[in-house]
Amino acid sequence: MNDMFLLKQGEIVLKGLNRKSFEMKLISNVKRRLRPYGRFDVYCVQSTVYVEPADGETCDMDGAFEALKTVFGISALSRAAACEKDKDAIFETAKRYLGDEMRSAASFKVESKRSDKRFPMTSIQLSQYVGGMLAEAFPETRVDVHEPELTVNVEVRDYATYVHGPSVPGAGGMPVGSNGRAVSLLSGGIDSPVSTYMTAKRGVAVIPVHFFSFPYTSELAKEKVLTLAKQLTRWCGRLMVEIVPFTRIQEEIRDKCPEEYFTIIMRRFMMRIAERVADMNGAKALITGENLGQVASQTMEAMAATEECVSLPVLRPLVALDKEEIISIARRIGTFETSILPYEDCCTTFTPRHPRTKPRIADVIEAEKDLDIDGLVNEAVTNIERVTLEV
Ligand code: ATP
Ligand code: MG
Repeated sequence: MNDMFLLKQGEIVLKGLNRKSFEMKLISNVKRRLRPYGRFDVYCVQSTVYVEPADGETCDMDGAFEALKTVFGISALSRAAACEKDKDAIFETAKRYLGDEMRSAASFKVESKRSDKRFPMTSIQLSQYVGGMLAEAFPETRVDVHEPELTVNVEVRDYATYVHGPSVPGAGGMPVGSNGRAVSLLSGGIDSPVSTYMTAKRGVAVIPVHFFSFPYTSELAKEKVLTLAKQLTRWCGRLMVEIVPFTRIQEEIRDKCPEEYFTIIMRRFMMRIAERVADMNGAKALITGENLGQVASQTMEAMAATEECVSLPVLRPLVALDKEEIISIARRIGTFETSILPYEDCCTTFTPRHPRTKPRIADVIEAEKDLDIDGLVNEAVTNIERVTLEV
């Protein structure tokens, strides 16, 4: 008999009428994520998702459980042990499977559910029986039905009984794809992988866009971004990364614009191109890893000038976080070590000596006047390279 998983839905349950479609999204994301680990049945009963190995299937349960910890829309998950539908088998399973938890808890209770009504005991009788036996087996742990430290859950179902104890936290958030699509500007730094993760966590399917200035930035810098994107697939699901050739735009800016506006003009081109990618993919927002006050281009004035040339909303999930907070998220999601590898980004190739920190929009537009903006944007968009990354 196979063990199984119980997944507790997160915020989805607040969604009222949309709930069904959120639930279906979650189930299809879970199924897709489990594919490498064997064939599973996945279904939902009362805001809990049940994951069981399909009939006769041997699945990689450890691998599957780890994978499910990175699926957004799950607030908590637990493994359950399966056993015969027999009161003593249930007790033996609880004793073996939750022995460590029983020994370390000061108090416990057994809570039973019975969906198979042919089972000869009521839920209360079963809880009392298993609870009594466990209390004898673990005399150091007392029964407390009101505020137990540990709850031993028993579910008598059609083909088996399941015993499960405490759950571990899930990835939280909402199922990817349940809140639309957005383009995320992904550099090789620490910040933008975190902003991409945070956006996906809110249920958004992200399309990463990277601006690449060969030979000012090396092939290795591009590989680094693809490594980061690959690491993000754990959270975001499969990703289509759009790599935009940016060299000619940067050279044009260097040759035709006043130096103190280089960065801001370059960032405006990023926004315009990202918006074009968004339009082609039905995406409704642009995401950046900008953070208030972190560098010269991240003042409120610079942000205003950066987004003035596009009409989609520019979302900045990190805007009010401290660097330390961003780093701790980067470590937790597994991108930090890659982000600190020392490859250059196109932002640093033509850095002005004295950047304008509080640019006026009219002055920026004046500074761009010798550029063929549409021509440069069209050329870059035409030459985009797409790389698909599977989880
Ligand atoms: P990061 O750590 O994400 O690189 P940063 O603090 O270095 O951020 P900037 O270099 O000013 O900040 O970039 C601000 C934001 O602009 C980035 O978070 C990212 O969203 C976007 N960006 C910068 N460079 C690129 C690039 N080469 N390709 C795609 N997006 C970029
Ligand atoms: Mg950067």
